Amino acid sequence: MNIDFDGKTLSDEHIFFRSAGSVNPVVDRAEGIYLYDVDGKRYIDGMGGVGVVSIGHNVPEIRDAAVAQMEKVCFAHPFHWKNMPHMELTERIARFAPEGMTKVFLCSGGSEANESAIKLARQYHVERGNTSKYKVISRWNSFHGNTIGTLASGGMRVRRDLFTPLLTDMPHIASCNCYHCPFGLEYPSCKIRCAHDLEAEILRTGPDNIAAFIAEPVVGAAGGGLIAPPEYYGIIREICDRYDILMIMDEVITGFGRTGKNFGIEHWGVTPDIICTGKGLSSGYTPLGAMIVHERVFEPFKSGRGFAHGYTFGGNPLSCAIGEAVLKYMEEHQLVGNVAALEGRFFEMGRELLELDIVGDVRGKGFFMGLEFVEDKSSRSPFAPSLNVAGRIADRCFKNGLIVGAGKGSIDGVNGDHINLAPPFTCTEADLAEIIAILRSSIEEVRHEL
Ligand code: PLP
Repeated sequence: MNIDFDGKTLSDEHIFFRSAGSVNPVVDRAEGIYLYDVDGKRYIDGMGGVGVVSIGHNVPEIRDAAVAQMEKVCFAHPFHWKNMPHMELTERIARFAPEGMTKVFLCSGGSEANESAIKLARQYHVERGNTSKYKVISRWNSFHGNTIGTLASGGMRVRRDLFTPLLTDMPHIASCNCYHCPFGLEYPSCKIRCAHDLEAEILRTGPDNIAAFIAEPVVGAAGGGLIAPPEYYGIIREICDRYDILMIMDEVITGFGRTGKNFGIEHWGVTPDIICTGKGLSSGYTPLGAMIVHERVFEPFKSGRGFAHGYTFGGNPLSCAIGEAVLKYMEEHQLVGNVAALEGRFFEMGRELLELDIVGDVRGKGFFMGLEFVEDKSSRSPFAPSLNVAGRIADRCFKNGLIVGAGKGSIDGVNGDHINLAPPFTCTEADLAEIIAILRSSIEEVRHEL
């Protein structure tokens, strides 16, 4: 497809990309919570890109920090050099993180962070004399990245199936999903069976083979905001400790404020061993990810050979200066506090959409909201996948000037169609109301066509 703009004719013929169709508009510029296409049409970034944009687009302070660093040095590898932004950013991340989580490994995104955590967990056990602990248990409704290692731990069938057999497949347990309880139970009489299932899986696989358990505190794309009951992660923590298994929290979406606390797991009052992050850490101004490690996990690496792992771009001065500027901006403008303050109103408005006969569930935390669509509310049965309900609603939103995320049938169709919202933390109540209003009319329009 040829596009004429700004005196040039460009083509997208050479872009090898999974999903961008020729119907997608060409983005020209962005500011605050808005993106503009080359025809000048405005879109609200209701998904913060893909759960990325936290502080809003084109913030001048971030541009200034990037330019200032570019005028000094953009690349100097940690093999050879310490660099100031690397030290500043890791120090600030340690301050953001739960107590005791003070060791920070930087990389270029979420998949790399999770891949690093899987390797760190393995080496942690090796350093303590146990070479058989290598498996990582995860949950079915999960997404941990697109590398072949993280894919083996993730649970999204649409991502996994084409690549099986995976290099080593990993054990999975059921997700925590109160709307479609995998055990057919109800909270609280269920006694959090889904958490105790971790122990059952450990005993099935053999504790001596298991290095770690990984989960997203609030499930993102793979479940549309699935949220665990208050007891869930305390039980998980106890089980991990009992069997000497590291607890890894994939906070690639939930980290750095998206849920109204610095890290999602803080809502459950539990400290994990490793937190993996990406996305909002740089608000999309540069590719950046981080693995944040508890001091007790760092301990066996102290006197030995270190962590046998690292990336070319990890800790580069330019990305670090940008990440540091983003987190500084977030702190100075108290944006995590804004998410916490507006969460109640956001969800009140979101739950009003339950009046619509195809909206079955509205869930999530902070500025991450998932809406699940069902054909029949009483049986909670999903629409036929061929109807592509979530995809059509997302397309209609786009046409109506709102960008949302669409998820579909992430595990065997159980979770049906859902739409995710993850707006920038700078949204006001009026912005959130506009997002919900456009979403409502887009759902209604598609509903009439079904
Ligand atoms: N983990 C979660 C929870 C994610 O949502 C994603 C991306 O969507 C990833 C990991 C992978 O991150 P990246 O695409 O930056 O590699």
